[in-house]
Amino acid sequence: MSVIQALRGTLGEDRVLTGDDMAAWSTDWTGRYRWTPLCVVRPGSTEEVCAVMRIAHAAAVPVVPVSGHTGLAGGTHGDGAVMLSLERLNAIEEIRPEARVAVVGAGVVLSALHEAAEAQGLSFPMTFGARGSARIGGLLATNAGGSNVLRYGNTRDLVLGLEAVTAEGRVLDLMTALHKNNAGYDLRHLLIGSEGTLAVITRAVLKLVRQPRAHATAMVAARSVSEALVLLNRLQDVSGGAVEAFEYMPAAYMDTYLALHPEARAPFDSPQAVNILLELGVTAPRDSTPGEDGLVPVTGSLQETLAELMEQGLVLDAVVARSETQRAEMWARREAAAEVSLSRLGALVNDVAVPLDAVEAFLTEAGARCRALDPDVQEMVVAHLGDGNVHYALWPSGAAEGGALVEAVEEVVRALGGTFSAEHGIGLHKKASMARHRDPVALEAMRAVKTALDPKGILNPGKVLP
Ligand SMILES: Cc1cc2nc3c(=O)[nH]c(=O)nc-3n(C[C@H](O)[C@H](O)[C@H](O)COP(=O)(O)OP(=O)(O)OC[C@H]3O[C@@H](n4cnc5c(N)ncnc54)[C@H](O)[C@@H]3O)c2cc1C
Repeated sequence: MSVIQALRGTLGEDRVLTGDDMAAWSTDWTGRYRWTPLCVVRPGSTEEVCAVMRIAHAAAVPVVPVSGHTGLAGGTHGDGAVMLSLERLNAIEEIRPEARVAVVGAGVVLSALHEAAEAQGLSFPMTFGARGSARIGGLLATNAGGSNVLRYGNTRDLVLGLEAVTAEGRVLDLMTALHKNNAGYDLRHLLIGSEGTLAVITRAVLKLVRQPRAHATAMVAARSVSEALVLLNRLQDVSGGAVEAFEYMPAAYMDTYLALHPEARAPFDSPQAVNILLELGVTAPRDSTPGEDGLVPVTGSLQETLAELMEQGLVLDAVVARSETQRAEMWARREAAAEVSLSRLGALVNDVAVPLDAVEAFLTEAGARCRALDPDVQEMVVAHLGDGNVHYALWPSGAAEGGALVEAVEEVVRALGGTFSAEHGIGLHKKASMARHRDPVALEAMRAVKTALDPKGILNPGKVLP
């Protein structure tokens, strides 16, 4: 019996797609990668995922787990593979307000979890532009970051437990809701960020926090990235660490965004070199209940701090959002980042991180190194500045090899104590960088782990490990 026949016999005819029905699973959001899967399977339970894996394992056929298809590293490329879609494992099983946890299937869309948590006055504080499509399994598999890492950490920091299915089709049950658990190796953290190469994540227990009662959001113009960091630290001090997002968009990014979106408005009357989108979130009634003048205290306090810093010359201009519409307008500029960076054919995307106090040096040195190789190269930068993660895209003119430009950027990153892969993962895209920059002993340990968990090498083969 063929693998497809065996899968149909187990899941049912309509849960195994072939031919033209596989179109949506034959490319990803970027459109940069295209492939022809063997088939697409859509199991509806952990047991069915186990059955799929047992069939694939027996036949030694590759399996590529796929959630929302928004990954930016080519991680779901699957020529000749069984594409294992998690989309039907989309139950929000329970939200436990007292424990502040959500128990969810891997196929839950991030924005659906946001809505379910908010209905209970809670929040799953991971967010980014693809939240309407990205699913929990994909978030865990890539250890996604996003705009609120500054305050709440990466996906890794928000996961208490998970369930996964091994390459051989057995259930690995790590579904605890514990904040402390030192019972041996923490396999949860091994699977988070493993990009589908070690196991298929099927369920998770996620941390929730109190939903902020109020936000204060502003666009601020600064003279330099270093001066913007002075502003960040001042805001953290006066707000008791309430800054949730601190995002950097330089002039070239803003110009490109406005060209792509003629309906959009510029943030300031005159163009600025350093545009910062910042947001504070507060839960205490004393910070969030509007006064007699209608002003929310956290907004008032933000305005005061910005005014002081303007007097000191550290802030050049500032606009504080006065409505949800204004707040959404500010976020729309930032959340177009993937669209803006990839709007030029041949864009080279570097998702790097350096210590916060090295971001300015990184931008200066990487720019100089790249222009020495390709004088007409354009930089398209946008950054989660609050956590040191710079999306450093290059639009080359063709004067230098793309690989040479990427290597130059990575050398600068390395010299500054940074990483070539901050939040998007490795997939296919960054394998050469893994070979260049990861410690050989670490790579050897990773290969040993891969062989132990997936002896036939069927789970997302050819990804992550060079
Ligand atoms: C507009 C836009 C904005 C973005 N912004 C951010 C951002 O700010 N921060 C950020 O970190 N990322 C961002 N991304 C990238 C992307 O959204 C994240 O990587 C996200 O976590 C991927 O989720 P997904 O469900 O789409 O996963 P997919 O793309 O389907 O899969 C990604 C990887 O995970 C594996 N995988 C998927 N599901 C499972 C599973 N259940 N078990 C095991 N492996 C699995 C796949 O094999 C693949 O290797 C953005 C993408 C877009 C398009």
